[in-house]
Amino acid sequence: MAGDPSKLGFDTRAIHAGQEPDPRTGSVIVPIYQTSTYAQDGVGGTREGGYEYSRTANPTRTALEEAVAALEGGRHGLAFASGMAASDAILRVTLRPGDHLVLGDDAYGGTFRLIDKVLTSWGVSYSVAHLSDVDQVRAAMRPETRLVWCESPSNPLLGIADLTALAEIAHAGGAKLVVDNTFATPYLQTPLDLGADLVVHSTTKYLGGHSDVVGGAVVTDSDELREQLFFLRNSAGAVPGAFDAWLTLRGLKTLGVRMERHCDNAERVTEALVAHPKVDRVYYPGLAGHPGHELAAKQMRRFGGMVSFTHADGERAALDVAAGTGLFVLAESLGGIESLIEHPGRMTHASVAGSMLQVPAELVRLSVGIEDVGDLVADLDQALAQGR
Ligand SMILES: *Cc1c(COP(=O)(O)O)cnc(C)c1O
Repeated sequence: MAGDPSKLGFDTRAIHAGQEPDPRTGSVIVPIYQTSTYAQDGVGGTREGGYEYSRTANPTRTALEEAVAALEGGRHGLAFASGMAASDAILRVTLRPGDHLVLGDDAYGGTFRLIDKVLTSWGVSYSVAHLSDVDQVRAAMRPETRLVWCESPSNPLLGIADLTALAEIAHAGGAKLVVDNTFATPYLQTPLDLGADLVVHSTTKYLGGHSDVVGGAVVTDSDELREQLFFLRNSAGAVPGAFDAWLTLRGLKTLGVRMERHCDNAERVTEALVAHPKVDRVYYPGLAGHPGHELAAKQMRRFGGMVSFTHADGERAALDVAAGTGLFVLAESLGGIESLIEHPGRMTHASVAGSMLQVPAELVRLSVGIEDVGDLVADLDQALAQGR
């Protein structure tokens, strides 16, 4: 790409970073290099590009990694087979037996499960803190804390954490700050600019954006962390295939325009929910009454496409709404072009039931898609009106 990518606008980077026309054929789109291995020019002599085996590196994946890194404003990107594989690599590279980490009280359920059920059996301990309360985070730090794991906005309660403050607390204690930027995307927020050491993504969500591929990514400015992550990924093998990398790269090109529309639609849906008599509380950082609103306005470009609300008539009614929409598809996951609805207590967050991360039973979570917003509001209205 001509010039320094960091000087180009977001959408230009999304479309061009790492995505030069193919040098051999001129193919404008990065090809799907569906190959496991690469011919060598003599023993130990790789050709231009240095590719030798696709677990180690693959050109389609390289293009995706350069694009994601350019969007996050980081030096190094690494793609993984899933968001959880990316998170697992960070945890295994940064933590050793005896180490401790601090994680949010509404962390993604899968991240909590990995830490609580897998990591603890390897001698790693953790504390849970309400990340929007910096004093709680400071109090949770121990001499052996090596990692603070943060999501902002968080899932499913859309809590906002002060990333600059968390980076300071982590660094003062000799720990690193990881930000799971899946909900915000680099279009709305770039944690490395606020002091984070590592950014992790489930690219399954907004980056891929079309609910057709599972993937993950890590971005960091640190050469050392990049080397360690690369070594672990090559050793353990949690890589995405070429076609998955290509699908993610294809989705990524429109991230900026999609996010604008997700935000527009989520704002309109939020307004309708706030005004609805069957809705008790609406969780959206764009609302002036949201406790993290001012912070979100400072560290984010806009407020995102995720909205949660509690039903005034309790869990049964919340379940009925989740099952009663027509356009909003009842499904886990988020961040695709189509609107999704789910009941976190029974679905995405079932694995945290009974823990400190338990969510309200009457909570409904929406991933607001990019359809015509009038249709989305009408669909929610009819589902809320059905209440038994
Ligand atoms: C989905 C998700 C993950 C896990 O990613 P997978 O691609 O499903 O493995 C991690 N963090 C957040 C915030 C997510 O939404």
